[in-house]
Amino acid sequence: MPAELRLLNPQLGWHQAQTYSTNTGIVLRGREALIVDPGISQGDFERLAAFLADYDLQAGLVTHAHWDHFLWDARLGSEVPRYATRATLAGMQANRERQEAQMRELEELNFEGREYWQRELLYRELPLDEGRQQLAGFELEVLRLDGHCEGSAAFLFPEAKAVFVGDHLSDLELPSLDDAPRALEAYLKTLDALEELTGRAECIIPGHGSPCGPSEARRRLDADRRYLQALHTLEPAELNGDLTELATRFLRNHPDARAGDAWSQELHRENLKVLAQNSPNPPKLV
Ligand SMILES: [Zn+2]
Repeated sequence: MPAELRLLNPQLGWHQAQTYSTNTGIVLRGREALIVDPGISQGDFERLAAFLADYDLQAGLVTHAHWDHFLWDARLGSEVPRYATRATLAGMQANRERQEAQMRELEELNFEGREYWQRELLYRELPLDEGRQQLAGFELEVLRLDGHCEGSAAFLFPEAKAVFVGDHLSDLELPSLDDAPRALEAYLKTLDALEELTGRAECIIPGHGSPCGPSEARRRLDADRRYLQALHTLEPAELNGDLTELATRFLRNHPDARAGDAWSQELHRENLKVLAQNSPNPPKLV
């Protein structure tokens, strides 16, 4: 899908990058704006900066510690403060090497290794409290969601009737687990929290895929829960066997509309690998 930027309601702008259908939110209050997960390509930053030219950008917010959600560009304002929860800041530091390696790999593939994202602008986020608060005059509620990326946060903006849920509730991607030992259990708890949260917004914006209303969010939530609960029933013996064979058999027995996509299948295989590594008899890795 080509990138696009439009208003979903008078207080809510939405941008979708072409890369991974990654979403950026723009929350508006009079002439003031906040931005959530600021986009990926130079084209994304250009479109966002052009839109924000009519506004005073107060702050940026980062849902979680994966690189495709915490990029920044001078066109958005080098000195604009950006915030992430303490758990996300800890995750960003703990995984910094891995995230930077992924960015470098993309720069090598696409730009002959040239620095495409200005590194000196990154890793400048300030700590954001969890719970209800005001940020630069905006009403905001911050809720922790573990399972996909430890310390991930949802941002509920009651005035814009919007909630940003990070990499959960996607219509494109299967749920993807981080490699924390209890990530699957944590993700199932996250779904319970999201069930409550999505009932309090009119617009639910996942990290990747289409924004939706509460009933579609509920449908995605049920699909996520079905997939994760099925993962939960896997026996150590199955996880210690041939994972490629298991991945195919699992999706045959537990069909999911999102699983046709090659990227989702990759996420699915990674989920099985994480579960295998954390199962009681880990396989010998050679
Ligand atoms: Zn993510």
